[in-house]
Amino acid sequence: MRLILLGPPGSGKGTQAKRLSERLGLEHIGTGDILRDAISRGTPVGLKAHPYVRDGLLVPDDVVNEVVAERFRADRPERFVMDGYPRTLAQAVSFDQVLRQEFLDLSAVVLLLVDDEEIVRRVVNRWSCPKLGCKATYHTLEKPPKAAGVCDLCGTKLIQREDDKPETVRARLQVYHRNIVQLLPYYRARGLVREVCGEGDIETIYRKILQVLNVQEGPPC
Ligand code: AMP
Repeated sequence: MRLILLGPPGSGKGTQAKRLSERLGLEHIGTGDILRDAISRGTPVGLKAHPYVRDGLLVPDDVVNEVVAERFRADRPERFVMDGYPRTLAQAVSFDQVLRQEFLDLSAVVLLLVDDEEIVRRVVNRWSCPKLGCKATYHTLEKPPKAAGVCDLCGTKLIQREDDKPETVRARLQVYHRNIVQLLPYYRARGLVREVCGEGDIETIYRKILQVLNVQEGPPC
């Protein structure tokens, strides 16, 4: 299974990608996570990306394309779920080239549909675990951590992303809407797009994703 998850920031791509990767054995490739990790380590990619990420803008295509191409060159994931990439038409074209070189086909592109106002409400209350292998997220009202400010799973101190401020979220939504109108027709033309309502509880949305993918969970026998 080789998937791309599309949807506005805060639509649950990260949460669903994590679940899909754990339960279906897919590699979870999240460019936002890779960039935040590069920023926190102060690598050359991180230094280039930081001002864009901080202000809710897209990191230039060539930087992100190279990050992804390098990831595929390094260990050629055969089964994966892309979370937050591609985000522009130029990225989709570059990703196709990478996949072609590796003789890999996409299985489907899942689009999570969530209303803009719901996104703002979700994201400004979002707290995340910054630990790279963990990436758990919490919501101060709907899914608070058991101990305030600490990740339930690994005990790391939770952070609020610097791009989760209301004005930055609105900027990110604008960027999303501008790009998705080009990206969707590109994948629709190939019959790859499956739409899923991204509102409701996490497990229900996950089940709907499995349904549109025609996937039965669990071992085959
Ligand atoms: P995310 O965690 O997916 O919401 O991404 C957080 C931020 O990282 C975005 O607002 C962008 O600044 C940057 N970013 C992540 N993925 C991409 C991408 N495919 N293209 C450009 N910028 C990206």
